[in-house]
Amino acid sequence: MTTMTSPPKTTTSQVPEAMLERFRERADAHDRDNTYFHADLEELRAIGYLASDVPVDHGGWGLSLAELGRSQRRLARYAPATALATTMHLYWTGMAGDLERFGDDSAAWIMDAAVNGEIFASGHAEAGNDLPILFSTCAAERVDGGYRLTGRKMFGSNGPVWDWLGGHAMTVDGGGPQIVHFFLARGSEGVTVLENWDTLGMRASQSYDTVLDGAFVPDERIGRVVPAGDDSDLFLAATQMWALPTIANVYLGIAERALEVAVAWAKRKTSIGIDRGSYAHNPFVQHQVAEMYLELDAATAVLDRLVDDWMTGVDHGAAWGAKIFAMKWRVVESAKKVVDTALDVTGGAGMIRGNELERLYRDVRCGGFHPANDALAHEMIGKTALGIGAEPPRW
Ligand SMILES: Cc1cc2nc3c(=O)[nH]c(=O)nc-3n(C[C@H](O)[C@H](O)[C@H](O)COP(=O)(O)OP(=O)(O)OC[C@H]3O[C@@H](n4cnc5c(N)ncnc54)[C@H](O)[C@@H]3O)c2cc1C
Repeated sequence: MTTMTSPPKTTTSQVPEAMLERFRERADAHDRDNTYFHADLEELRAIGYLASDVPVDHGGWGLSLAELGRSQRRLARYAPATALATTMHLYWTGMAGDLERFGDDSAAWIMDAAVNGEIFASGHAEAGNDLPILFSTCAAERVDGGYRLTGRKMFGSNGPVWDWLGGHAMTVDGGGPQIVHFFLARGSEGVTVLENWDTLGMRASQSYDTVLDGAFVPDERIGRVVPAGDDSDLFLAATQMWALPTIANVYLGIAERALEVAVAWAKRKTSIGIDRGSYAHNPFVQHQVAEMYLELDAATAVLDRLVDDWMTGVDHGAAWGAKIFAMKWRVVESAKKVVDTALDVTGGAGMIRGNELERLYRDVRCGGFHPANDALAHEMIGKTALGIGAEPPRW
C-alpha cells in the first residue's frame, strides 16, 4: 500500500457545541422511530461540514484525516448514527483530496459536488462477500462509453438522501477478473433504493439496500479499474485509510460518551451503605471507571498512532493492511468493553428505554460488523505475521 505525506495545514473549523446538543436531543427519537437524521444533516450542510475534509482552495474546511477523525469522534459523543453515516460520505471527499495531493485530479469532481451540497454513499457491502472492495458479487459489463452494473448492495448509509453511490463491481471484460470502482448517480435507470433498515443499533443511519439492474455509469464516473484482489492502487489505499480510522473514531466517541455518562451517574447514585454519599466512593466502582479509562487510553493511542503514521508517510509496506485491521479491531473491542462496563456502573437504570446508555449499548455493537469483522481481521493479521500471501486457496 502506498503511504501518504501530511496534507498542507489549513484552518480548522468546528461543529458548534449548541448544534451538537440539538443533535443529542433528537438522537433518541430517531432511534425510537427508526428515522433518518434529516434535521442534523441540514444543519451540517448549512455550515459546510459536508465538505469539511475538502481542501480550502476547493471551498472546504481543509480538515486533515486526523482532524476529521477527532471531529467525527466528538460528533459521535452526541449523535452516533449521524457521525457514522456522515463518515460514509466524508471518506469519499477525503479520498478525492488525497488523490489530488498526489497529482491525480480525476476525483476532484467529488469535492466540488460535496461543496455544492451533494451527498455520497458507500456501496461496498454485499451479501455473501466478506472481502468488500477487493472482490464483488455485482457484475460490471463493458458497454459503449461506460459500464452496466447488475447486483445488489446493502447497508448503504444515508439511504434517503444520497445523490451518488460510490461502489465497486467485478468484470471479466478485457482480461482477467477486474474490479470497477464507480460513482453511480441516484436517478440513473436501473437503480432501486429499498427502504429496508430496521436494526439493533445505528438506526438513524438508515442504511438501505440498492438494487442495480443494468444501471449505466459513464466512463467519467469510473474511479478505477484494477485487478481483483489487489489493493495497492492509491485510490483503494486512500479509500480504506479515510474510511476505517474515521469509522473507528465514531465507535471511540461512543465509548468516550459512555464513560462520561457512567461517571456522572456514579456521582449521583447513592447507597444506604455508603456514608460518604455517592457510588463514586465505592472502590469497585472506582475500579470499573479506571478500567474504562485504561481501555480508552490504549484504544485512542492505537488509533491516533495509525493516522499519524499515514500522515507522516511511515512505510509499513505490505503490513499496512494488517495495521489498519488491527487498529479497527482494537478500537471497536475496547469501545464495546467500555460501554459494557458503563452499564455495570449505572446498574439497571442504564437498560431502561430512553436512557442514553441503552442506545449507546446497541449502537456500539454495530462496530464489529464493519470490515474487517472479527474473523477477517484475525485472518489477515495472522497471515501477515506468518508471511502468507493473499494467493488462493484462501484456506
Ligand atoms: C450501522 C452500519 C452502517 C453501515 N454502512 C455501510 C455503508 O454505508 N456502506 C457499506 O458499504 N457498508 C456499510 N456497512 C456494512 C458493513 O460494511 C458490512 O458489510 C455489513 O455490516 C454486513 O456484513 P456481513 O458480511 O457481516 O453481513 P452478513 O450478515 O453476512 O449479511 C447481511 C445480510 O445479507 C444476507 N446474506 C448474507 N450472506 C448471504 C448470501 N450468501 N446470500 C444471500 N444473502 C446473504 C444476510 O441474511 C443478511 O440479511 C455498515 C454497517 C453497519 C453496521
